[in-house]
Amino acid sequence: MEAKKKDIRALTKEQLRDFFVSQGDKAFRGNQVYEWLWQKSAHSFEGMTNLSKATRDMLEANFVINHIKVDQMQRSNDGTIKNAVRLHDNLVVESVLIPTSSRTTACVSSQVGCSLDCRFCATARLKRMRNLNPDEIYDQVVAIDNESRLYFDRPLSNIVFMGMGEPLMNYNNVLKAIDKITSTEGLAMSPKRITVSTSGVPKMIKKMADDGVRFKLAVSLHSAIDEIRTRIMPFNATFTLADLREALEYWYAKTRSRITYEYVVWRGINDTQKDVDALVDFCRFAPSKVNLIEYNPIDDGEFQQASNSAIDMYVNTLERNGITVTVRRSRGKDIDAACGQLANKQ
Ligand code: SF4
Repeated sequence: MEAKKKDIRALTKEQLRDFFVSQGDKAFRGNQVYEWLWQKSAHSFEGMTNLSKATRDMLEANFVINHIKVDQMQRSNDGTIKNAVRLHDNLVVESVLIPTSSRTTACVSSQVGCSLDCRFCATARLKRMRNLNPDEIYDQVVAIDNESRLYFDRPLSNIVFMGMGEPLMNYNNVLKAIDKITSTEGLAMSPKRITVSTSGVPKMIKKMADDGVRFKLAVSLHSAIDEIRTRIMPFNATFTLADLREALEYWYAKTRSRITYEYVVWRGINDTQKDVDALVDFCRFAPSKVNLIEYNPIDDGEFQQASNSAIDMYVNTLERNGITVTVRRSRGKDIDAACGQLANKQ
């Protein structure tokens, strides 16, 4: 019965080796299968050509490979690609390939929907349906790596966990996926090229610091004033800025790793000098970088991109205070692939 078959990629290499021994076969057969599953990203047992037909049939009888399927691929005028990714239980998430002249970045999802409720975000309207498994995260990266090689003639260079979901609410699976992505038995990417972007879950930021992770941290801050942040990111009432700041101080003390803040400036919400002064105060304790992200309205509601003069005020004030700042143009707007727009529209 199909229902009784196990997801083979939930097994560690050791467990696979043990399985083969329990079947009266050699342990190294487990290594071969592990290599097919991860390094070669096999979609079926059928394609594992260095195994005998009997071994492939035996695997087929016991396991499934719950590989993702790219259901629909949309290409933007600016080269951005958005994948609608179908999971084995028919749920759909999205991931995005963002090309620049020198690099390809994959923006991947970590949950179906999201546990949190940021008011400006299209994904928040989907609510969280479930966490993604490590292999479902890994597969999104492999799919984008393949597309990068096919359309841009180069491998994927960077990964950001900034698609659907709050990665720190699915911490264990995100970590397992990153282990595979960075392992020589997986994609062998450097952790320095991976950024986990969180809306700021203090307890989990401290846990990351304790776990000695080597990828980069970005925080979607959007306001350094509690009253305003709670209005736009209601969970801030629970995880206040003071808690977040304390967790980030802990992170910096342990990792000495610069913190990036993602920040959107909205008209009438956080576009005054008082707002930028609060931001300067908030990030003073550690080397910081602020990415000012262009906003993509998800409807005609209260969230609209601020004026260019407000953006200039942010840039000037941050630079005057020695804080690195970049203004990031949004990509893939025409296909709803830009930040905050991922919501399975198709
Ligand atoms: S912005 Fe991120 S954390 Fe907030 S609701 Fe959207 S996906 Fe979730």
